[in-house]
Amino acid sequence: MKTIGLLGGMSWESTVGYYQAINKGIKESLGGLHSAKIAMYSVDFDPIEKLQHSGDWEGTAKILIDGAKNIQAAGADVLLICTNTMHKVAPQIEKAIDIPLLHIADATAEVLVEKGIKTVGLLGTAFTMEEDFYKGRLTEDHGLTVLTPNEADRKIVHNVIYKELCLGDSLPTSKAEYLRIIESLADQGAEAVILGCTEIGMLVDQRDTEIILLDTTYIHAKKAVEWAI
Ligand code: GLU
Repeated sequence: MKTIGLLGGMSWESTVGYYQAINKGIKESLGGLHSAKIAMYSVDFDPIEKLQHSGDWEGTAKILIDGAKNIQAAGADVLLICTNTMHKVAPQIEKAIDIPLLHIADATAEVLVEKGIKTVGLLGTAFTMEEDFYKGRLTEDHGLTVLTPNEADRKIVHNVIYKELCLGDSLPTSKAEYLRIIESLADQGAEAVILGCTEIGMLVDQRDTEIILLDTTYIHAKKAVEWAI
């Protein structure tokens, strides 16, 4: 079994989900007392969130490159950045290390292509929903059509992530808003909706709606398990 490297802490609430999903996946595949070989580096999210919102992405890249190098030195065979948003600096991180990076958008796109889905809704931080590093990868590299909520709804989705979910708060009012937004994406033609932020699964899951949801935390973790064994 290979060792999975996790660059976590963004937020730690969602890194818990990765740790559980990867260990459960290894147990399901290998049985008994088997558990995942993991090298994790978990950052302090507060300075990173401040750098993101002030537009200093190179500052965030420096912190994450440092973490990724530590993970490599700890013996990891592969790296997962446990957040969709921070894949904005994935190219810089990839360049700084020798182990491969499992990109969260590629893992998600593969599931969509397998399911034959061509038009998909995307929820995530404003960075993820509005910028090309993620949406562009889905459209250009994987041929998908990506729908995002309108500006007011993008703001709601973004604020709930940073002001509630990353702090561990899952509020029924926010859940109702997310489900309304998911439905409106389906009304516009989305055949499925990507939960493109690793905390969203704390708020909504497949039991809440008939619309197909793709939880990127789970998908990314599953990909790592397949890779490790
Ligand atoms: N975990 C989130 C994501 O998947 C947002 C927190 C962050 O900015 O990294 O995008």
